[in-house]
Amino acid sequence: MRLVDFLKDFLLGIMKLIKAILNDKMSLQSITLVIFIKEICMIPNCIRCNSEYTYQDGDFVICPECSHEWNPSLVSEHVWKDANGNILSDGDSVTVIKQLKVKGSSSGIKQGTKIKNIKLKETIDGLHDIDCKIDGIGRIEISSKYVRKL
Ligand SMILES: [Zn+2]
Repeated sequence: MRLVDFLKDFLLGIMKLIKAILNDKMSLQSITLVIFIKEICMIPNCIRCNSEYTYQDGDFVICPECSHEWNPSLVSEHVWKDANGNILSDGDSVTVIKQLKVKGSSSGIKQGTKIKNIKLKETIDGLHDIDCKIDGIGRIEISSKYVRKL
């Protein structure tokens, strides 16, 4: 094991211990220490809410503020882009750019359908990475490459 890996594990262990002792009621000093360790270990801020208080558990980084969990080695620097390359965010409204088939629906999703309040979702293959609700169809997952930001 390389020294840097050993140190990282060691610091992550301390961090877990601090969190366990304080049971998430963190004082200013412990928050400062946790952020310091986080910077040394290069734990990213939350990719959803940009919280600084993320911590690592195994391969996963966990955000205590919005409960988002993700594996940074799978989704490093992941941004969601629409068909035109515009960056999408949670809560955006989009329009569907092509007719999409939907299981159990004869009409599917028509081109031009407007969707409000999308939720972005981590997927390994980058498909069906938007969670949304469409009138007449219900909750469905669609791919960001088939939508355009409004
Ligand atoms: Zn978060």
